[in-house]
Amino acid sequence: MASGTDFPFNIMDVASLLRLNIRRRSGGRVAYADCPVCGDRRGKLGLYPEIDTWRCYHCGECGGMLALYGKAHGVGNSQAYQEICEALMVGSPGREYTPRAKQEIPDQKDVPQAQRASPQEIHNTLTALLALLTLSPAHREHLRAKRGLTDGQIGQFGFKSTPPGCLCRTIAARLVKSGCVVQGVPGFYMTRDGAWTMKFYDRTSGIVIPLRGVDGLLQGLQIRLDHPIKKEGDPPEKPGMKYLPFTSTGKPMGVTSGNPIHFVGDPSARVVYVTEGALKADITHALTGRTFAATVGVNNTMGLDELFAFLRRNGTEEIVEAEDMDSVTRSLMKS
Ligand SMILES: [Zn+2]
Repeated sequence: MASGTDFPFNIMDVASLLRLNIRRRSGGRVAYADCPVCGDRRGKLGLYPEIDTWRCYHCGECGGMLALYGKAHGVGNSQAYQEICEALMVGSPGREYTPRAKQEIPDQKDVPQAQRASPQEIHNTLTALLALLTLSPAHREHLRAKRGLTDGQIGQFGFKSTPPGCLCRTIAARLVKSGCVVQGVPGFYMTRDGAWTMKFYDRTSGIVIPLRGVDGLLQGLQIRLDHPIKKEGDPPEKPGMKYLPFTSTGKPMGVTSGNPIHFVGDPSARVVYVTEGALKADITHALTGRTFAATVGVNNTMGLDELFAFLRRNGTEEIVEAEDMDSVTRSLMKS
């Protein structure tokens, strides 16, 4: 009865419990029903039995089985679970359910990790992933108004928005089906029921920043968070963490993002500027045309020596290290 989850029911059970009006089915993979959240009556709610998720293409709500029931009835996940079990008479009504514990398997040392895929495989998969993502109007506006980028530059760099967490499995399945290698690609990991998914969470939504190597290949992604993460006990004036690597380290069959150095510009430039932060490097490159190598993350300077050696062989005569990007930007703007 359960379709690939730990629940003693599936999404079609929940749909029948809610008496959803199923208007059409598409080969058992998706059923379209009226939405109990927004009241749409045209069958805009997609139910996906293979992955027990749903998405309304009218109101944009999406989630798992408990969220479907919970949003329809205005109750939380725990109560939704109890009520569904009671109604279907399959579980013990008193059993406590904590959805966080399911979504967030704590990092364990003995969790099997995947071997890193080849640079070309990582590039191909991340390129296909970016092609499936969109850039939200709010993120586009941020890049235009606050960062001064043109639509052309935004498209060139390939900035996108993080997908909703509930679509991670669907997107990963699409990539696998199209022939992409996801095992060993940073950000991808395996769920407990053996399906591939990605580590995008709704609470860490933001702008996806592609990280490219000096060879032009995509080597990883970074997320510029919509809401910086503050540590408990930090003073209120402390800004919090603004960037997250797209990594799946510690997750089953996950892999670390490594220490990518982001490169933007001409690989045989005479002068290469070294800075911290991929987005700033992209923007300053767009403004000045200069070539940048950017470290990503705090003290993540591993890999710089290797890059410098490559650049010197390639004709670079001067490597300018800049501790503070803003002062570099100012001096570049003057020159
Ligand atoms: Zn809806």
